[in-house]
Amino acid sequence: MKIMVQKFGGTSVADAEKIRRAAKRVIATVKDGYGVVVVASARGKQTDQLLADALELNPNPPRREMDQLLSTGEQQSVSLFAMALDALGHDAISLTGSQIRMMTDSMHTKARIQSIGADRIHKQLEQGKIVIVAGFQGIDENENITTLGRGGSDTTAVALAAVLEAERCEIYTDVNGIYSADPRVFKNAVKLDRICYDEMLELASFGAGVMHPRAIECGKKFDVEIHVRSSAEKTDGTIITHEVPQMEGVVVSGATIQRDMAKVGMIGVDNSPGNAARIFAHLAKAKVVVHDIIQTEIGADKANLSFMVGISDLAAAKEAVEQMQDEVNCQSIFVRDDIAEVSVVGVGMRSHYGVAEKMFEALAKARVNIDSITTSEIRISCAVDECEAEKALEAVCIVFELDKSAVQRSK
Ligand code: ADP
Ligand code: ASP
Ligand code: MG
Repeated sequence: MKIMVQKFGGTSVADAEKIRRAAKRVIATVKDGYGVVVVASARGKQTDQLLADALELNPNPPRREMDQLLSTGEQQSVSLFAMALDALGHDAISLTGSQIRMMTDSMHTKARIQSIGADRIHKQLEQGKIVIVAGFQGIDENENITTLGRGGSDTTAVALAAVLEAERCEIYTDVNGIYSADPRVFKNAVKLDRICYDEMLELASFGAGVMHPRAIECGKKFDVEIHVRSSAEKTDGTIITHEVPQMEGVVVSGATIQRDMAKVGMIGVDNSPGNAARIFAHLAKAKVVVHDIIQTEIGADKANLSFMVGISDLAAAKEAVEQMQDEVNCQSIFVRDDIAEVSVVGVGMRSHYGVAEKMFEALAKARVNIDSITTSEIRISCAVDECEAEKALEAVCIVFELDKSAVQRSK
């Protein structure tokens, strides 16, 4: 049987009318001869609401209980989706993460998928049912409910498409594809017809909230073609797939803003073997996710070290470096909590020069100061004042002509 996985995000199942519209989309795919597995997110802003409910009772809720609570949003969506299909005359069954044995590690609120049991889904499909799976959730080896991190239903969908060997994974959302930049921020962004996994992974990891980064990792690893498209309009969206040679012709494919970042600096750390290892081991013990580490020697025996963290990890990061201050003989510590990173991404950067210069010049002309710069083979990121991030994004979008299609740009 040909299998299609179709994932509907929060806004696409926000009310009864939208669930019915999504259900009709699924039925059309069944009529095309596919066994359909639907993945649904929590409705509308429900996950935000559940988070707020928790924080009202406890400013630091136990993560296990948080997962127990957050997973209920998706559980409601899938049963409502199955009811909508039933009302339209189609057999459907909703299943939670635990019911399909979506096994994860025990990192509550940011768990990683380890394995998925496909048997139950296959059996239901063979009986002619549409299977609706709750996104974003799994269970660990002790049967505790876990969640995959905000936006994690995308990862559920792509992982399911991989284990079920689906023809494609369709991600239905409130935009009609992947744009050169977030269209809510840069109004003239253009829709991309295709983007390769590596570019999409960099964009998603550096702020393009349209896809969960781990979904892209999974798609690349297991060769799943991902089609991001609109749940409201019947238009082609964007295909996320392997790199094709023409992609190199476009130097910059997209730009992003990563907000809510903070920087921690350690000035004048003893420049001796093992200090960086000690500091980062301590940060890892505090479960701090660290980005963009920069260390510079400032003399024969001293070095400056800085790194970025998401704002939610800042308190833990600050405490951890303060605990290490004496051990590594650090002269002072500084913290900035008002940072955003603006990035440009494109596989074409591998074979073109002058991209960095063009980006820095655009920021200079826009009078945006660059705090720090980091790069990968296909990305350049500049940390800037959070309040200047949108101005910075607009400046780089214009200089790299991200308001024009790839065809227009190559003329
Ligand atoms: P869903 O609830 O369907 O998962 P999300 O809110 O997670 O939807 O993702 C869709 C949103 O991602 C869009 O409304 C858009 O504002 C934002 N977005 C950010 N960057 C991009 C981009 N490069 N292309 C398209 N959308 C983007
Ligand atoms: N409901 C979860 C969230 O809002 C997961 C998802 O939508 O993908 O983050
Ligand atoms: Mg999402």
